[in-house]
Amino acid sequence: MSDLDAVAKAMRANTKLVHVETPCNPTLALTDIKAIARIAHAGGAKLSVDATVASPISTRACDFGADYAIHSLTKYISGHGDVLGGVVSGAASLIGDLRKDVGVHLGASMHPMAAWLTMRSLTTLSARLALHEKNALAVAQHLQNHPAVGRVNYPGLEDHPQHDLAKAQMSNFSGLLSFSIKGDPAQVLDRIASAKHIKHAISLGKPQTLVFYLPTDALQSNAFRLSPEGLDRLKSIAGEGVLRLSVGLEPVSEIITDLEMLLDPA
Ligand SMILES: *Cc1c(COP(=O)(O)O)cnc(C)c1O
Repeated sequence: MSDLDAVAKAMRANTKLVHVETPCNPTLALTDIKAIARIAHAGGAKLSVDATVASPISTRACDFGADYAIHSLTKYISGHGDVLGGVVSGAASLIGDLRKDVGVHLGASMHPMAAWLTMRSLTTLSARLALHEKNALAVAQHLQNHPAVGRVNYPGLEDHPQHDLAKAQMSNFSGLLSFSIKGDPAQVLDRIASAKHIKHAISLGKPQTLVFYLPTDALQSNAFRLSPEGLDRLKSIAGEGVLRLSVGLEPVSEIITDLEMLLDPA
């Protein structure tokens, strides 16, 4: 989706919807929402954007031309790892159709306790995101200078290849980053029980810092199923795999102490 010509070429006469994710999990590559909206709309299609990793505090996809903005409530919005949910927003007429058809026929209705917990969490969303971003930037800069670390992917870093797009499209760089290491990632995870804060788990966006290893070949066979060129492009960012870190709200010096221990037990 960062190759605009490839997107334009993929449009068909019967294309109804173009769907993108930005920033993309776990590469932290961005998609230019305005540019893709132009391509989708020129082809008579709608554009939906999953901006879960950014949160709506950061990326308001409909302001950049998207027709549907999609967020997992499970992550930053509910923010405590105790709710499962999702939300689609957009123009009233489009959402009205979704309520009628998808809501009724697929039965995706949230239970009241989850809705209540999510509404409670909205009151602290902007304060939490500000701290997630501050901690993540400090951690990303620390990892960049760590001898055991290869590449660090975080849109808030000045050397992120799409940092200018990130500044234009994200008002907060959020709390998710990924990085490769020079050694064996299994050894990092073997030491996780000794960490004070960091937990080994797949979710993201909660107050506790979480780490998860995502091997590129497993992602390709279980989920992505990219073309050979697409897989080469993924490997140019993710190598053989990345450790994804959802940086939490703990004191940042303590998150860094945990990472030092995980990366170098001596
Ligand atoms: C986690 C995630 C989802 C799925 O959300 P759930 O609420 O866990 O089903 C969708 N998109 C992105 C980008 C995510 O990180």
